[in-house]
Amino acid sequence: MKILFLGSGTSTGVPVIGCDCAVCRSENPRNKRLRASVLVKSESTTILVDSCPDLRQQALCHSITAIDAVIYTHEHLDHTTGFDDMRAFCWRRTDRLPLFAGTDCLAHLRRMFAWAFSEKNTYQGYIRPDAHDHAGRPFMVGDIEVIPVPVLHATVETYGYVFRHAGRSFGYVPDIKELPAASRPLLAGLDVLAMDGLTTQEHHTHLSVADNVALMQELAPKQGLLTHCGHKVDYEEICRNLPEFMTSAYDGLEIEI
Ligand SMILES: [Zn+2]
Ligand SMILES: [Zn+2]
Ligand SMILES: [Zn+2]
Repeated sequence: MKILFLGSGTSTGVPVIGCDCAVCRSENPRNKRLRASVLVKSESTTILVDSCPDLRQQALCHSITAIDAVIYTHEHLDHTTGFDDMRAFCWRRTDRLPLFAGTDCLAHLRRMFAWAFSEKNTYQGYIRPDAHDHAGRPFMVGDIEVIPVPVLHATVETYGYVFRHAGRSFGYVPDIKELPAASRPLLAGLDVLAMDGLTTQEHHTHLSVADNVALMQELAPKQGLLTHCGHKVDYEEICRNLPEFMTSAYDGLEIEI
């Protein structure tokens, strides 16, 4: 399985518009963060997780021309508003684009992009989603098993996901404040786990870096990664202070598991 981090930033991206803090002014490319999204690939299957507002730029940067499915973590705009850019992944396909989301997020997508989900949308080449409400149950996309992991984040139904293929596992939880007890076993002992590390201070809807590290130590993946980082997080400085098994994701990071 290969994981490509298309974006490792929070909803504002980094730099933040109008901010002149040290991270926003930094010339380190690892402090430039597009909105959070990953591509999960096996030899025969490609899954996009979330369609963020930077999707066009991400697809151009990494020459992404096709996906087999899109999966949504939740309805927040930094994870959904690149929806229309997925047209480019539909021009070459005759069938509908498989789309998986939880119940609330799917209802939200149907409202937001009603024309795409409409029965009247028969244009080949426009996004015609083959929508699935996974309702928290595991499902397959090609040869990759996808396990939804309910997490607490703000006031919206939010999922992280575990991807399993050829005996390897990758967990992706970009937005989380708290991990419910019932979800803990799903994220324990993975090969790689990438999780919300928004900021260096306590935050009411996201894990701070310190919260992330504490939870990572409990869940004990072989490798832990911060993602969905904001402008309080300086790449070099934060990496220096993380435990041995952890580092921070950055835009363009590709890992093979
Ligand atoms: Zn987010
Ligand atoms: Zn800043
Ligand atoms: Zn969110």
